[in-house]
Parts: sequence; C-alpha cells; structure tokens
Amino acid sequence: MGIVDEDVQRVREATDLVELAREHIALKRVGRRFVGLCPFHAEKSGSFNVNPDLGVYMCFGCQARGDAITFVRELEHLDFVGAVERLAQRAGITLRYTDANVTKDRQRKQRLHDAVAAEASTATRSGASRSVSRPTTGTFSRSRSSSSSSHATISSPRASPT
Ligand code: ZN
Repeated sequence: MGIVDEDVQRVREATDLVELAREHIALKRVGRRFVGLCPFHAEKSGSFNVNPDLGVYMCFGCQARGDAITFVRELEHLDFVGAVERLAQRAGITLRYTDANVTKDRQRKQRLHDAVAAEASTATRSGASRSVSRPTTGTFSRSRSSSSSSHATISSPRASPT
C-alpha cells in the first residue's frame, strides 16, 4: 500500500521543516539556516542544520540528512507511509492511497466489465441481426400496410372521378 505521489508532494510542500523540527528541538537562526542540537545523536554543539529554502536538514555530527518526511520517520521510528500520514494529519491533508493489489483487482474487474459489455454488445448485435432476419414479418406487415395504402390510393382516384 502506498500513498499517491501527488499527495506525498503536497504533504512535503505543506510542511515547514523548521517549524516541525522546533516541535522537538530548539533551533537558532544562523544566516539563512537554522542550527540546533541534533535529535539523532547526543551532542553539545549544534551540528544540526536546517535549510528552510530546500526543506532539508543535515547533521555534520552523525551525517543524518533528509526532508520533513525523513525527519519524522527517523525521529518517531515510523515507516514512510506512517511518516507521511503523521505530517498529512498535521497539515490537514487527506491522503489518497494506491494499493497495487487493489489496482490490479480493479483492472481485473474492469476487464471483466469490458468483457461483459462486449458480450452484451454482441448480444445486441446478434439481436439486431435477428431483427434483420425478422424483416420478413416487417416487410410483410409493411407490404400489408402498403397494400392498404394502395387500396386507399386506388379508392381515392375512384372517388375523385365520381
Ligand atoms: Zn546528528
């Protein structure tokens, strides 16, 4: 089971890594970056850097690096989906999922549906051909109606001379 890529992207864009990191550690602004004590390793000097422009972090002490999703993943020991879910909840985003099995099942159902539809259309087609063979009765009734109309046309010329 996975999350739709587009939604992962939305979550990434909606999450401010500095704000997120600040929920766990203290960050100090240094130039364009934010620096603080790394939450991934014990340290006394701030080796943990957050780049707010790129939305990524990097620790010079333990080489931990990543984005908001990785941050939550590492810090809360979640898997990718769990981390995205956590951030989506935080950002108020409703996620859509792509389940490979469900997709396959859906495709199978769609194929079945198509097969049924194709069969139905052939049935209609054969029904149509059946109604094409039926014209015997159609032509019969039509000839009957034409004969009755010819009766009318015959009777009317007869009526006009009178
Ligand atoms: Zn570190």
